[in-house]
This record gives sequence, structure tokens and C-alpha cells, in this order.
Amino acid sequence: MIGVKNPGSPMRKLAHPYADDFRDTPYGRQLHEGFRLLRFREPLESGFRRYLDRHARLSQQLAALLLIVVVSSYLYIEWHYLAIADSGWMAELTVLRLLQLAPGVAVLLLSVLNRWLSAQAERLFPVLLVLIGVIASRIDIQYELIGLEVAFRYGAGLLIIASFFFLGITFWMSLLCAATMIALDVLLALLLLAPAQLPGHWIAISYYSVLLVIGAVSRYVHEYSQREQFLVRKLLGWVAEHDALSGLANRRSHDASLLRLAGQARRERAPLAMLLLDLDDFKAFNDRFGHPAGDALIRECGELLAGFARRPLDHVARVGGEEFAVLLYDCDAAAARQIAEQVLAALAALQIEHPKSSGGWVGASIGVALLAPGQPAEQLYHEADAALYRAKAGGKNRIEMASGEGAG
Ligand code: GH3
Ligand code: MG
Ligand code: MG
Repeated sequence: MIGVKNPGSPMRKLAHPYADDFRDTPYGRQLHEGFRLLRFREPLESGFRRYLDRHARLSQQLAALLLIVVVSSYLYIEWHYLAIADSGWMAELTVLRLLQLAPGVAVLLLSVLNRWLSAQAERLFPVLLVLIGVIASRIDIQYELIGLEVAFRYGAGLLIIASFFFLGITFWMSLLCAATMIALDVLLALLLLAPAQLPGHWIAISYYSVLLVIGAVSRYVHEYSQREQFLVRKLLGWVAEHDALSGLANRRSHDASLLRLAGQARRERAPLAMLLLDLDDFKAFNDRFGHPAGDALIRECGELLAGFARRPLDHVARVGGEEFAVLLYDCDAAAARQIAEQVLAALAALQIEHPKSSGGWVGASIGVALLAPGQPAEQLYHEADAALYRAKAGGKNRIEMASGEGAG
């Protein structure tokens, strides 16, 4: 029992009466906690990945196009202008270049032909990057072996830096791709080059490492601000739909949910009930205990109502100063009335002192309405409001059903 009878502090939550610093939302909490390791708590992380995926498609298609243009130009020049005398190597080089081209062509074709396969290919993007990078390393090392002065060298370096610039791949995945490319390049060099040729290759590896650091730093900064933007956007969306004091949905969100649920109720022929609750003599409570205590009471009442609407399609909103609307999906008149009675009983059980109410505790009046077939959604609110008006006129701290739903 929470009975608080000290008139100076009638609410137990006076110490924290406001939810409006937004830390009470998952997005606000994450912003406050920070994300230096570039990872959110679930389910935000999954949400962020989906957001990245949506932005990734175009950049991956552009990357595929760029790959095709660059590699086919290299191949053309290698065939026609470079002095590659070894015909065996020329044949192998052609095959390697075609292998580099293949993922680009596949990504572009799939994006046109099949959405599902295209989505799978996008997941493989980091693997494809590493594959193309390893082929570039192989070509580079072969050029070193045959000692050709003029050649397209250091292709792996291009791939290393590029892996940090494709949206859709997170910083950590890009880092893994780039580090794998360097590791495989070292391995290939150790396998293929003679010891005397190795020092020259270490110079290339040092460049690759510098490229990795430059790419990683800029991708880190970029992803950090991408994540920050994601959270701020989500937070703005949350603020637009919620009431700062109670943390419940606001009137705008209630109206949108009412339209959505009414549509679903009609399609599925399910009953939809609305409870409209208004605290009794709230003005007198405010006058007696002060506005902050009134605010705390609004929060308390919001929490209490939220406990009665826990199913996924139920919806609780603060629709006015001390007025709350509860939408109960698939709930008939008898069940709605029963829930309204439980709400009043729960509120009375809090035993919050009230200077004016007849019972001595804070009470409320509730109007209940059900969506009738063919009735516009807005009508439901008017019906519940009319029932609430009758509950007030009938002496308060009571429930009234809208006309047609049985006597109150
Ligand atoms: P009734 O039983 O007929 O509902 O009487 P009432 O006094 O509750 O109703 P009325 O609509 O006359 O008064 C509502 C009061 O709610 C008036 C306003 O000062 C107060 N109010 C509105 N919003 C807030 C708020 O956010 N915080 C606080 N503390 N008071 C608020
Ligand atoms: Mg009131
Ligand atoms: Mg009111």
C-alpha cells in the first residue's frame, strides 16, 4: 500500500516527476551512454543495420559499375599497350581480370533481375571485396616476378581504401576486409616471391598499412556521425509521437493509431473499444498540492493505464491535460467495462490523497465506447467523450458506456 498522507508530498515520485530529458527512450539512453565502439544495444543495432542496408544498395551498384569500368580498361591496356611478352602469363592475367570483373557484373545483373538474389549478393559484398583484392595482389606479385616496369600495380591498395567507402559495410567489417587483404597479400608474397624480391614488396605492404589507417579513421568518424544521426532522427520521431510528461503516446499518435486499428478491426471483424479517462477534480488537486504534484499524478496515472494495455495492438495515449485514451483491440463491451472497473479499482488502491473527492483519494471517470460497423473512426472518440461527460455529470468516479453499449 502506497498511502501517502503527508499533504506536502502526496506523490511518491515527486523526486523525478519529468520524463522530458528523453533519456527514458532507448534512443536517448543510447545517445547518453555513447557508442565509441560503434555498436548499439539491441534492438537499435538491428535497426541501424537495416538503415545502412537501405542506403547501401545504390553505393554498391555504383561500386560494381566502377569496378567494371576500371578492370576492363586495365585489361584493354594490358592487351594492347603493355609489353607483356609471356603469353602464358597474358592468358592467366586475362582470366584473373575476368574473375575480378565477374562479381561486379553479377551484382549489377542481379540488382536488375532478382531482388532476393540481389539482397543475398549484398550480404556477400565484403567477401567479394576481399576476393577481388586477393586477385589484385596476385597480379601485382606476378608483375614483380617478371620485373615489368610499366604495369597496373598496387591494385590491392585501391581495394583496401575502397573497402572503407562503401556504405552498408560497417566500420568493423571494413577493417576486417582490409586487414584480411593485407594478410593475404603478405602470404602470397611469402609463397611466390624470392627472398631477394621480398624487401621491395614490404614497401608496398607499408603503403597498404597506411591506407588501412587512413581509411579506418575516416570510416570511423563517418560511421560515428551516421549512428548519431540515426539516433537523433529516431529521437525526433519519438518526440513527435510522445508526450514529454508521461512518456505515453500523444494525441497525434493516438489519432493515427485509432485510424489504423479501426481499419484493421473492420477487415478482421474484431471489436475495438476505447476507454476515455479523465481525473476527477484535478484542478483542486493542483491547487492544493501544487503543479509539480499534479504532474507526478499524471505520470502515475499514465503508468497505471499502460499496465492495462500490454497486448501488441493495445494503445494508451495522453490526449489532454489529465485525460487519457486507451484503445483495446479485439475487446468487446463486457470486457472493456471490466477493464475500466479494474482501472478505477487500481487507481483507488493507490490511495493518493485528494482534497475534494468524496472517497478521500484521487479518482477518475471513464467513458467507454465500441466501434460500430460502418462507423467512422473519429466517431468512436466522440462517443467515448459523450459517455465520459455523462459519467462526470452523474457524480464522477464512475464508468459510463456509450449509448448502445448497455447502461453505465
Ligand atoms: P473534472 O472532475 O470535471 O474533470 O474537473 P477537473 O478539475 O479535473 O477538470 P478541469 O478540466 O476543469 O481541469 C483540468 C486541469 O488540469 C486544469 C489545468 O490546470 C490542469 N492541467 C492541464 N494540464 C496539466 C499538466 O500538464 N500538469 C498539471 N499539473 N496540471 C495540468
Ligand atoms: Mg478532470
Ligand atoms: Mg479534463
